[in-house]
Amino acid sequence: MKITDHIANAKGKTLFSFELLPPVKGKSIHGIYDAIDPLMEFKPPFIDVTYHREDYIYKQHDNGLLEKVSYRKRPGTVAICAAIMNRYKVDAVPHLICGGFTKEETENALIDLQFLGIDNVLVLRGDARHADASFIPTPGGHAYASELLEQVCNMNSGIYLHEDHDTSYKTDFCIGVAGYPEKHFEAPNMQTDFKFLKKKVDMGAKFIVTQMFFDNTKYSDFVKLCRENGIDVPIIPGLKPITSSKQLISLPKIFHLDMPEALSDGIQKCKSEKEVKELGIEWMIHQCKELIQLGAPVLHFYTMSNPGPTRKIAEAIF
Ligand code: FAD
Repeated sequence: MKITDHIANAKGKTLFSFELLPPVKGKSIHGIYDAIDPLMEFKPPFIDVTYHREDYIYKQHDNGLLEKVSYRKRPGTVAICAAIMNRYKVDAVPHLICGGFTKEETENALIDLQFLGIDNVLVLRGDARHADASFIPTPGGHAYASELLEQVCNMNSGIYLHEDHDTSYKTDFCIGVAGYPEKHFEAPNMQTDFKFLKKKVDMGAKFIVTQMFFDNTKYSDFVKLCRENGIDVPIIPGLKPITSSKQLISLPKIFHLDMPEALSDGIQKCKSEKEVKELGIEWMIHQCKELIQLGAPVLHFYTMSNPGPTRKIAEAIF
């Protein structure tokens, strides 16, 4: 079922959902089930699975020369989605990224998703490879999420890359995109970033999932900006509880967000990592209660495949 239908059917009740990372290469599907099982009692109507672009590693040969080798650390998004749908009978939402795909490969991936009965996709540009200073599009692929979105919209209209319009089957993907309440880090300002978000919605995106934030006014201001500018699709807040003191530095660095002073002060005062975890959960429970008051359609957790903290929050909220 489409995410927009899940939200409509909930008639204003806030839903619970979460995101998983594919396990690192060589691990089995059971790691995924272990990350899902503790959260199923909160009835997620959908579960997201991230996609990770290939990266480079350097292999040293006997003669000392280094060889640059392409390496995919977390493969299997499409197969994991199929396994989740089969086992739990919930919708799986694969993330689809520009990086690492030609347009033909994207089309083939979408045909596979449609064949598997996957109704929703979250289309993204994707992160830069660690070895690259900034995002480098794959030759023959897309440079921005909006271009990838256009390809999926075309397939929804029966337009494929190399086929006639009349003979092509129409897919029916419900397409989501990313939104940044605190601005995407590469955008020169919020207005410019917002213009590109609006473009994605005008082109056919049916829901937005936000980057994580720790201050709900960032979400409410963002929703207000969207509504005032004609974006009326559901805006799903992405949430992540703090689980270690290191995240005080790593989360702002990786996700380009501001931590409220009360939260950073609180973490600094904690005497152990256990206390930090408890504070992170407490903060998130408070955030969730407010977001429900604000009318958030879904509380969507970035579990990083560690279900424990999210379970504690869901127990307090749902
Ligand atoms: P875009 O919408 O393409 O925007 C990227 C930047 O370019 C922005 O600064 C925007 O303002 C600007 N821009 C957009 N269009 C244009 C244009 N036409 N001309 C000039 N500038 C433009 N990454 C992964 O690798 N895998 C994942 O599974 C994944 N899941 C995510 C899920 C969510 C909910 C979020 C919020 C992020 C996720 N990411 C993931 C990270 C995401 O890929 C990065 O944040 C990436 O840097 C931007 O992706 P985007 O889809 O927002 O890109």
